Amino acid sequence: MKKVKHLQCIRCGKTYPADPGTYTCTECGAKAGILDVVYDYDYIAKNYSKEYFANNKEYSIWRYEPFLPTDPAGPKPKLRVGWSPLYKTDRLAEIIGLETLYMKDDGQNPTASLKDRASAVAVAKAAEEKAPLIACSSTGNAASSLAGNAASLGIKTCIFVPGRAPAGKVAQLRIFGANVISVQGSYSDAFKLSAAAIEKYGWYNRNAAINPYLVEGKKTVTIEVCEQLNWEVPDWVVFSVGDGCTIAGAWKGFVDLYKAGFINKLPKVAGVQAEGCAPITKAFHSNQPLEPAEENTLADSIAVGVPRNGEKALRAVRQSGGTYINVSDEEILAAMRLLGNTSGIFGEPAGVAGLAGLKKLVAEGIIDKKETVVCAVTGNGLKDVNNAIKAAGEPIKVSPDVNELWDVLENIPGLLS
Ligand SMILES: *Cc1c(COP(=O)(O)O)cnc(C)c1O
Ligand SMILES: [Zn+2]
Repeated sequence: MKKVKHLQCIRCGKTYPADPGTYTCTECGAKAGILDVVYDYDYIAKNYSKEYFANNKEYSIWRYEPFLPTDPAGPKPKLRVGWSPLYKTDRLAEIIGLETLYMKDDGQNPTASLKDRASAVAVAKAAEEKAPLIACSSTGNAASSLAGNAASLGIKTCIFVPGRAPAGKVAQLRIFGANVISVQGSYSDAFKLSAAAIEKYGWYNRNAAINPYLVEGKKTVTIEVCEQLNWEVPDWVVFSVGDGCTIAGAWKGFVDLYKAGFINKLPKVAGVQAEGCAPITKAFHSNQPLEPAEENTLADSIAVGVPRNGEKALRAVRQSGGTYINVSDEEILAAMRLLGNTSGIFGEPAGVAGLAGLKKLVAEGIIDKKETVVCAVTGNGLKDVNNAIKAAGEPIKVSPDVNELWDVLENIPGLLS
C-alpha cells in the first residue's frame, strides 16, 4: 500500500513493515512497545485534496480511506460507521459559559458508540488477513462494536467482558452471535484471560493498544469534525478517557491532517477521567509513571484501572498543550441530564463524562469562553438504562382519574406557566 510507510514504536522509534501479525515492538515488548501507523504524507497530499472529499459520496469512515491502513479493494464490514452528526449546541454553550460549542454525537454509530470506528477497521484488517475468528476483552462497547461489525461479514468472535458490564451491552453481544465469556472479576482480569486465549489459539487480536489499527479507526472522528467544520480547527476538543485509545486517535486525526496539509493548526486536547478511576490524570499532573488504580465509577466504559494505551494518551495531551481533569459520578449524572435537557442527545455515563469535564474546565478558566470547543458524546444512553434512571428519576404515577391528573399537573413547577 503506497499510503502506509511503516509501523513505528512510540517508545524506541524502531520501524516495522506493516505486515499481518505485527502488533507490538519486539525490542520493547508487548506492554511498552506500542506501534503507530506512519503514512506517506507527501503521497496523500499529492493524490487527495479537499475537493476530493467534498465530492466523495461515501458517508462513512471509508470516505477517509486515503488516511486509513486498509486496502481500498479489500472487504469492509457492511454497517455504516461514522459520519455522525456534529451539532452546534447554543443553549448548552450558554449554560456552561461558552460562546461556541459543538457536540459530536458518536452514540449514533450502528452499535451505538465511538468504538465502531475502531472495530470497523480491525474487522476490515482481519478480513484482509482472512482471520476466521477475532477476540478481544472489553468494558462493553469495544465488544459490542466488534461483534456487530464482525457479524456483518460472517466472522466469528470470542469476547471477554468483566462481570459488571451493563446488561444492554451484553445483550447486544449475544444478539450479534458473539461467544461471550463474562469474567467474574475486573476489566484487567478480563484482559489477562483474553490475552492468554489469544496466544494459545492464535486468534486475531482486537485488544486496545496491542492492535495499532484501532487508533487509526478512532482518528476518523476528528478528521470528520474538521471536514464538518469546513476544515476549520477548533481551539479545544474534549474526550472521556479509559484505555486512552480514543484520545490518542482523536489527536492522531489532527496530526495526520496537519502533516498532509489539510489543516494549518492543531487544537488543544482535554482528557476527562472518572474520579474513582483516574490513573492517567494522576500520571499527567504528577509527571510520574502510570500506576494501577481501582475501578470505582458508574461510568463502566472508562473504568480502566490499568490503561492499555496510557502512554499514547499522555503523549497526545502533552503534545497538544492540553490537560486532564477528573469528574465525580454525580457530575457525570448531572451532565447526562444537562445534555439531554438542552440538546436532545442521550449519552451513557462515559459518553457524557467529557461534557462534565468541559463544564469544570470552563468554570476553572482553563478554557476561555471565547474559545471554540468540540466535545464528543462517545456512547448512547440506551446502553445503560439503569444509570439513566439514576440520573433522571422515575416518572410521575397517576391512577386513571382526571381529578388526580389535574392535581398532579398543577403541581409540576413551570409546566402551566
Ligand atoms: C471506550 C469508551 C471510552 C474511552 O475510550 P478509551 O479508548 O478506552 O480511552 C469513552 N466512552 C465510551 C462510551 C467508550 O465506550
Ligand atoms: Zn520499541
